[in-house]
Amino acid sequence: MKAAVIHGPGLIKCDTVDDPIIKDSRDVILKVTSTAICGSDLHMYSGGIPQARPMVMGHEFMGIVEEVGQHITNLKVGDRVVVPFPVSCGSCYFCQHDLPTACEHSNPEHYGPEGGIVTDKGGALFGYSDLYGGYDGGQAQYVRVPYAHFGPRKVPDNLTDEQVLFLTDIFPTGYTGVMWGELKGGETVAIFGAGPVGSMSAKSAILHNAKKVIVIDTQQYRLDQIKNLTGCDTILWEDGQSVIDQIRDMTDGRGADLCIEAVGFEPDRNLLDRAKAVINFEKGSIKVLEACMSAVRRGGIVSILGVYPVNYDNFKLGQIFDKGITIKAGQCNVHTIIDELMDHVQSGRVKLDDIITHRLSLEDVSKGYEIFDKKQDGCVKVVLDPWK
Ligand code: NAD
Ligand code: ZN
Ligand code: ZN
Repeated sequence: MKAAVIHGPGLIKCDTVDDPIIKDSRDVILKVTSTAICGSDLHMYSGGIPQARPMVMGHEFMGIVEEVGQHITNLKVGDRVVVPFPVSCGSCYFCQHDLPTACEHSNPEHYGPEGGIVTDKGGALFGYSDLYGGYDGGQAQYVRVPYAHFGPRKVPDNLTDEQVLFLTDIFPTGYTGVMWGELKGGETVAIFGAGPVGSMSAKSAILHNAKKVIVIDTQQYRLDQIKNLTGCDTILWEDGQSVIDQIRDMTDGRGADLCIEAVGFEPDRNLLDRAKAVINFEKGSIKVLEACMSAVRRGGIVSILGVYPVNYDNFKLGQIFDKGITIKAGQCNVHTIIDELMDHVQSGRVKLDDIITHRLSLEDVSKGYEIFDKKQDGCVKVVLDPWK
């Protein structure tokens, strides 16, 4: 089959590889009909999350069930499904406590930030390096979906692939950042990052009746897109202080009720050694985190959705304590909210596919990564067709 394979930093190409096979009685094999490139894939593409052996990329995918393991009773051949990005068993302590991203069974490797005090294992994701379980991903014609009794959700026939594809990751993730903010209606939400995740946060904040949604980015074209789609306010990031000042001006000097970080770390490029994959302070992601703490009001909440797989130990704890800030962070527990979000899509309360700027064949995956990473050609979100 054809698949997008990573061969090292900056090198992802369409290769011919072996078809996946059923390895466990709870597996299904999915024929992938649509798949997308995520900002998280860029962390592997940049080398910030290293991957030594070639592996199939992709954790945002959907398709048609091609083959089922003998213990699968919830799905049959021909069913059309979307698949949450975490690989989760459904039966361990964490899966049973609404934390499938912390699944105790799916990731045989010990994972935690270098030098950090992490004594337990984290969960696994599709196509996201050996650190996260080493599962081949869905930027391919076929993918093996483990624990298929727990993850895949059937899609109503009246919805197109593009209408539901982002239920796999970025809509639940953007929504989670807002859920963590415990909005009651009427709040101001400042979202750092106008990429796919920030855009989904903006849509989710509107669904939660926020009074004012402010989106911040360094790319004017991305701000223009989300402003056109949602009518939100926008701020072009030139430096942190001026963004903080503008947010305060827009909130009677108080600051935003909720700040959402949807940027993620920028590593020094081309490092294969994770211990050396330090945050690039000049590129701004730490400045974004600090700006979130300064731009949030006293007693406010900061949701960190952007991925930070490395340690940073220079937070202004005094400010966090003095202002009484609550910080929530982590991978999105897609399984726990995907059904509720499918209802939002089906009812037409939210539209997800309007952020797609590029539709490419899987053969053109190298180009897709390049324009998404370099923010060329007005790129916000790339969807790949494995069969074109
Ligand atoms: P993306 O890389 O397209 O989006 C990042 C955006 O941040 C870009 O638009 C970029 O221009 C902007 N940016 C860069 N520097 C900035 C600055 N100083 N101020 C404001 N904006 C700045 O990717 P994405 O798909 O939107 O993902 C965003 C982050 O969310 C990534 O780190 C990704 O790994 C992470 N993510 C997390 C989860 C989760 O479960 N927590 C799920 C999906 C993605
Ligand atoms: Zn993703
Ligand atoms: Zn589990």
